[in-house]
This record gives sequence, structure tokens and C-alpha cells, in this order.
Amino acid sequence: MSSLFSLKGQVAVLTGGTSGIGLGYAKGLASAELRQLILTYRSEESLNKAIDEIKQVNSSLLIDAVKVDFLEDDEDELVERIFTQSYKLSQSGSIDILINNAGITERFPFEQFPSDKFNDVLKIDLNIPVKLTKLFGGKMLEQKTQAKIVFTASLLSFQGGMLSTPYAIAKGALKQFTQAVSNEWSSRGIRVNSIAPGYVETKLTDSMAAENKDLVDKRIPMKRWGHPDDFMGPIVFLTSDASKYVTGETLVVDGGWLSR
Ligand code: NAD
Repeated sequence: MSSLFSLKGQVAVLTGGTSGIGLGYAKGLASAELRQLILTYRSEESLNKAIDEIKQVNSSLLIDAVKVDFLEDDEDELVERIFTQSYKLSQSGSIDILINNAGITERFPFEQFPSDKFNDVLKIDLNIPVKLTKLFGGKMLEQKTQAKIVFTASLLSFQGGMLSTPYAIAKGALKQFTQAVSNEWSSRGIRVNSIAPGYVETKLTDSMAAENKDLVDKRIPMKRWGHPDDFMGPIVFLTSDASKYVTGETLVVDGGWLSR
């Protein structure tokens, strides 16, 4: 791996890294010789499966984990817990990379959207990433870390979508937040970017894939859905020196969907 793409010696925190796109990110980071990966997780079973898969890419990567359910009642407490435990676990005492990836979606017509589900999507997809960024970014600034923050945005950062209002609100806002916080922090050593995946085969899109897979396939210029491994390269690019003059950007990784 060229030094341009190397993450040697660095420590990353990744939310929702035990499946789907997050697991693709984790494998990408592992391939770039990251020193330590701190994952958030909900079940031991999915954590252990993910660790096995990541270790196949780089067996010497140190992997630690913080157990947390983003739907726990006290949002501020859970965010504080991820922050405190991550810095306690960090072998270097710093966090170089924060990846806000955990996300959910719910589909209902807007006028019938149950308000608890509406709020859950905003909580996981927007409020928690913003709060984590404030805490981690504050410490990165204090420690003068040359840090990188990445969000998982969506095509619905650019388009309204159908039946997914809270998701579109959250993902649209994340794209805007990426720019806003990048403007404040990039001159102080922190680059902030997002990745906007297109249609990717994961648990999140299981039901949608069953209904529409062929239709979507035909409309994607590359003629296939994305795979979590398609995100290994983009995450290495945005977290390594290969992108050292890139900030405030939302990188679309969609097989050409949005260009159509
Ligand atoms: P996924 O369901 O495989 O991954 C979601 C991750 O978030 C999992 O690791 C899960 O454990 C975590 N998560 C969900 N609810 C949680 C909770 N209550 N507490 C803690 N963690 C929780 O799906 P994915 O498609 O890999 O999604 C990852 C990100 O990609 C999400 O932000 C999603 O919005 C975004 N995304 C996905 C697609 C796609 O086509 N799959 C497209 C655009 C954006």
C-alpha cells in the first residue's frame, strides 16, 4: 500500500461497523494498516462475526468495541459513554478518525408516519452523529489531532425519495452539516467529508431489494447494486493523505445513479 493511502499508527472509531457498509469500511481501514479500530455494537454474535471478517484482511489490527444501543433513552449519556470509552481504549490516547455510519430507515406515507418511528430515525441518523462529532471534534481540536471525520450520507442527501421523510431530512442535513463543520474546522487540522452510497445490498435494503431489485438494477448505469466491499476504497481515500485537500465534500458512490 502506497504511503499516500496508509493509515499506519492511526486509531479509528466507527459506529455501526458490524454489518453492511460499515463492515466494508472496517475492511478498507484494515487493508490500509490502521493500528486500532473501535467499533460500536449491539450483539456479541454480530460483533464476533465482523471481527472474524475484518481479521481476514489484517490479522494484526487491534479491534475494541463499545456496546451501545442508539435507541437507549438518554441520548446525551450514550454519546458521552462512546466518547469516554473510546479515548480510554485508544492505545495512542488520540482518535484520528471518526466515522458516523450507524443508520436506520422507516417507510410510511408522511401523513401516517408514527411519531415514535419518525423520531427514532432522526435520533439515530442525525442527532447522535451531530452530538458525537461535537464531542470527538472538540477533543481532536484540543489535542491538535490531524483528524478525519466521515458521515454516511445517502442519495436522499440530494433527492427527496418516497415514503422516507425523516430519512431524507436526516441525510440532507448531514450533507449540509458536513460543509458547515468543515468550514469551521478544516483550517485547524480536521477534514470533514461524507460518503453517499447508492443502492447497496445490506440488511437496511432487504425489503426494498425484494420488491425492486430488477427495476433498480436496470436504472443504475453500472447495472448492479452496490456491495459493502465497494466502500473499502472510498473510506481509505477520505481518511488517508490521498484526500488531504478534500474537505466539506459528499462523495457519491452509486454506480452512476445520480448522474443519470
Ligand atoms: P445495516 O443495517 O447493515 O447497517 C446499519 C448499522 O447501524 C448496523 O451496524 C447496525 O448495528 C447499526 N445500528 C442500527 N440501529 C442501531 C441502534 N439502534 N443502535 C446502534 N447501532 C445501530 O445497513 P447499511 O445499509 O450498511 O447502513 C449503513 C449506513 O449506510 C446507514 O447510515 C444507512 O443510512 C446508509 N446508507 C445505506 C444505503 C444502502 O443502500 N444500504 C444507501 C444509502 C445510505
